[in-house]
Amino acid sequence: MTVDLQALYDADNIFAKILRREIPVEIIYEDDYALAFPDIAPQAPIHVLIIPKGAYVSSADFGASASDAEIAGLARAITKVAENLGLSHSGYRLISNTGPDAGQEVPHYHVHLLAGAKLSAKLI
Ligand code: 5GP
Repeated sequence: MTVDLQALYDADNIFAKILRREIPVEIIYEDDYALAFPDIAPQAPIHVLIIPKGAYVSSADFGASASDAEIAGLARAITKVAENLGLSHSGYRLISNTGPDAGQEVPHYHVHLLAGAKLSAKLI
């Protein structure tokens, strides 16, 4: 059975409020497609969240419903954030928790960028 994730989108989730500037954040990067800001509870010396501007619940929703321009825009934004933070050579880890089994807490698609040290707990 296909779940209509778009119908489940909660317009009052915390990242939607950040996108509407109802909650202040330090903007690390912004363009037409994406916004990047520090995670409130960093799990590494550098921990940035990169989110699409469109209303998507998760990676599943984004992959199914976003336009090609939005998908490319987010991918480019992630690369820009890493470049701007000087991480292109030292490296970084991208994580996107999708749904309950992955422990996704905020129901607006987001990619975690972790960097700034040798990262432990490598799962795969
Ligand atoms: P998830 O578990 O959904 O993949 O990750 C959600 C992330 O959002 C967590 O790492 C959490 O620390 C972060 N977060 C939750 N609320 C806020 C907030 O109000 N501001 C910021 N900057 N990050 C938040």
